[in-house]
Amino acid sequence: MSILIRQARYLIRSADRVERDVDVLIHGRRIAAIGPNLEAELTTAGKMTVLDGRARAVMPGLINAHTHLYQCVLRGLHSDLPLEPWLQAVVFPYRRQARLAYPDEAMMVAASRAGCAEMLKNGTTAFIDMDSTIGAAWRAWQEMGIRGAAAFNVANAQIPPELVAPLADIQRRVLEQLAECRALAAETPTLSFMIAAASPQMCSRPLLEWIAATAEAEGIMIHGHCAETAVEFRETVDETGFTPVGWLAEAGMLTPHTSLAHCVHVTPADRALLAEHETIPVHCPKSNMKLASGVSPAPAMLGAGIAVALANDGPASNDLQDMFEEMRFAALLHKVEGQADALTAQDAFRMATEHSARAAGIDAGVLDPGRLADVVLLNLEQPHLAAPGEIVPLLVYCAQGRDVDTVIVDGRIVVAGGRLTLADEAEIVERARRLGAERYRAMTAG
Ligand SMILES: [Zn+2]
Repeated sequence: MSILIRQARYLIRSADRVERDVDVLIHGRRIAAIGPNLEAELTTAGKMTVLDGRARAVMPGLINAHTHLYQCVLRGLHSDLPLEPWLQAVVFPYRRQARLAYPDEAMMVAASRAGCAEMLKNGTTAFIDMDSTIGAAWRAWQEMGIRGAAAFNVANAQIPPELVAPLADIQRRVLEQLAECRALAAETPTLSFMIAAASPQMCSRPLLEWIAATAEAEGIMIHGHCAETAVEFRETVDETGFTPVGWLAEAGMLTPHTSLAHCVHVTPADRALLAEHETIPVHCPKSNMKLASGVSPAPAMLGAGIAVALANDGPASNDLQDMFEEMRFAALLHKVEGQADALTAQDAFRMATEHSARAAGIDAGVLDPGRLADVVLLNLEQPHLAAPGEIVPLLVYCAQGRDVDTVIVDGRIVVAGGRLTLADEAEIVERARRLGAERYRAMTAG
């Protein structure tokens, strides 16, 4: 299968490399060539799809480096709370009602499919989901054609007692899930597995050390929350004598293959640790704003050469899974203290593409020959995009997810004309709405 994008009005290879009026040729899963008049390079008579790029910006797919898809059905519940009371009001009742430490299958699948539909339509081609713990959800991702990393979320402290499992049970379950995920990924390489620490103070020291050792032994990446709130920072310092970042470093959790959501409350010494270990902080500006968690020093971390990624975080604390909006909030948030170039449009774009690709461990985020063919075609023929300015700032400050026309993941067209090609959107919406209503009734009755 080949795809030829003809005469892209803009080809955004990366935040700083833009070309005009060029073709993009995709063979199989990867970009084969970029340049003018590539139809001449088509020597095989194989099946080929030709897309007209003349009214399009062609850009790398956006990568949401941290989310919780099960929360798609928990939007609108107990808004305007800070993180810790919000966990007590929304997340823990949901899990308690599910009678397991992990969300149940039908809900997880319905919520996953709704979240994947939303992300794909908004130009997100890959994501890291913390909490997806069942093969049925992973198969749903595969069927819809999106690239997903299942970051298995573990915790054994500071959560309701009925949700705490013995350490040996957690370890067994993680390894079982890793084996299942690997078996599925052998069929569809868009799937990968990570181990995620819920947060430094929600995992015992033995559990953190086990995560670090297992990730290294199995060759998988580490994910998790870190330094999200002032409460977490204070409690971790009180209990361990270390900051949250410092405590993870002590446990061997900081590696170049580790990504940490939030990193709001980090000290200059923490920043030096993150830089030293090449660990990837994941900035979630909208979630931090909604939960009043504080402002991440993302500009200072970028300035220290750290590859800060970007993410929406869960749908119950953002609440949109729209990386265009997230780029805009990232670029705007850090200007309010008086420095207009604190975090530029190019910085935000790079975070949502190249840096998030590093967090997700995928060879994407940049459009160059040999890279994975995760590509978005954005419709420029609209009133708010009819401007001759620089294309990357134009997209960061003006574009919205609904401007996305075509999405290609792993060389396959999964959104065409703004519609999903591999799934029934109406059925996805109906199922999420119905199961979400059932769960909400059960939660509020309990
Ligand atoms: Zn999160």
